[in-house]
Amino acid sequence: MNKNDIQSAIETAHAKFAGCTDGANASYIPELAKVPSTLFGIAVVTKDGEVFSTGDADTPFAIESISKAFNLALVMDQIGSKTLREKIGADPTGEPFNSVLALVAHGGRPLNPLVNAGAMATVSLVAGENGEAVWANIMKRFAAFAGHPLKINDDVYASESATNSHNKGIAWLLDSAGYFYNQPDMIVDLYTRMCSLNITVKDLAVMGASYANGGVNPLTHEPAVQRENIAEILAELTMSGLYDSTGDWLYRTGLPAKSGVGGGIVTIVPNRMAIAAFSPPLDKYGNSVRAENALIDIIETLGLNPLKS
Ligand code: GLU
Repeated sequence: MNKNDIQSAIETAHAKFAGCTDGANASYIPELAKVPSTLFGIAVVTKDGEVFSTGDADTPFAIESISKAFNLALVMDQIGSKTLREKIGADPTGEPFNSVLALVAHGGRPLNPLVNAGAMATVSLVAGENGEAVWANIMKRFAAFAGHPLKINDDVYASESATNSHNKGIAWLLDSAGYFYNQPDMIVDLYTRMCSLNITVKDLAVMGASYANGGVNPLTHEPAVQRENIAEILAELTMSGLYDSTGDWLYRTGLPAKSGVGGGIVTIVPNRMAIAAFSPPLDKYGNSVRAENALIDIIETLGLNPLKS
């Protein structure tokens, strides 16, 4: 595969799915409903630091749930994969990302760090003597992944803060079951800030590429995550990265990925590259329709499914 193959694959996928009008912006966070639905960008960053992009690749959007895949690195490095698995888990819930039912059915255990319950419990494990110290640690880690500090989208943060009573309920349920490790209201606020961080699809591909490059950011050459934790993090993404349609995604791609209700999806091709796509309209599971279709198309065109011989 050469450079032209990658650029041509992303441009072809962009052209193929730009006209697709399926799906709708997330509306349970009012600010996300206002983002132009036609935005569509794709980017690839290889482990050697080559960057390819097409479409709206420099437009900022809210990272939302994709942040869970990167905060997980911070906590995994801090407490180790064994303890993470004991405290949070490594199994799919089979329920939507914000399910209370899944929690209640498992004695309050969140099951994995990629659903809201597990992600907030993971934020509650971030070291720091107070909220601002925890936040500084999160920001530092995200800057290492992206290669520059990320900024909060203030409108999304305000909108989500005003409407996140469901997440507060989940946090307090976790706390009552002994699966929360810091003050629930403070942690929900930090989790909400983390989900409101702005990224571009290029940033997202850079962030994912550290997972394809032994934990080192291929553009800055700075460490982003300990190499020894990458396999476990990618295992979590493989099981639960695309909400409760992760099985369908895996069936077609064989790759770990993470989506968010802001419309972004990033997939990691171990030891090779990360591919990111962004477009706001979502399917009923919460995955961007154009982004998911485009990624599947690119993976097929470039022969990147590791399960196919
Ligand atoms: N901040 C969003 C929430 O907690 C993230 C959801 C998502 O992207 O899946 O509902």
